Amino acid sequence: MKICRFEDDGRIGVGIVEADGSIMPADADDLATALRAGHHPSRANGATALTGARMRAPIRNPGKIICAGVNYASHQKENPSAVLPSEPFFFSKLPSAVIGPDEDIVMPELTTELDYEVELAVVIGQRARNLSAAEALQAVFGYTIVNDVSARDIQFRDNQITLGKGADTFCPMGPVIVTADEITDPQSLVLSSYVNGERRQHESASGMLFSVAELLANLSRYITLEPGDVVTTGTPAGVGCFMQPPGLLHPGDLITLEITGIGALNNPVTAPAARDAG
Ligand code: MG
Repeated sequence: MKICRFEDDGRIGVGIVEADGSIMPADADDLATALRAGHHPSRANGATALTGARMRAPIRNPGKIICAGVNYASHQKENPSAVLPSEPFFFSKLPSAVIGPDEDIVMPELTTELDYEVELAVVIGQRARNLSAAEALQAVFGYTIVNDVSARDIQFRDNQITLGKGADTFCPMGPVIVTADEITDPQSLVLSSYVNGERRQHESASGMLFSVAELLANLSRYITLEPGDVVTTGTPAGVGCFMQPPGLLHPGDLITLEITGIGALNNPVTAPAARDAG
């Protein structure tokens, strides 16, 4: 099942995306709230397909967003300062950075090095602590796409990367969450990114250094995972800052991320004034 959050004529709710692309209202107003109550949304009784609905970020208020860094061998090789990790490395993005499909990534005035990272993201469906790798995927409600937008000059300047990866609009998410029952092997998914239609990244999730299950198992030794949390799993080679010459993002660009079986997430890049004026 493909789950989205829709906005339709002022109404916002959880929706089910049907095979023909239409959106059916579900029996929940908010996915994270529903998951925390142990409820997995389904089609609402008597629901009729919405026309003209717009998709928003599928989770409006993740409790936390934990991100794996340097989790593809190809990305470690392209980064001259990254060492091969012996165990998973994590940081967090701020929930306030989340935006949805087609919303603007606003380039802060404080950066000249705005970059993209296509990442497979996991939405946690049940409380989990000290998971084994063998059981870790049982905690997954579904999978979506996250753009780990990064201001490289700020990221590499600071000894911590909260500002460089947590600025407003730096966490595009969506367009849908595909429930875990439809993705039996997340390592078989293929990730791609495009800037203005030019392909930049294209690799199977089998290129991860630590699998989704291994990441969740490791993370859950430190942090209790809660329903509605989001965990991202790293990006493959092809980010803009390591291209020769660099292929960074600028206002006017369109960044598209694709993952097989999930869909495509489009976000334009704008300058601050464009958003402030809007
Ligand atoms: Mg990343």
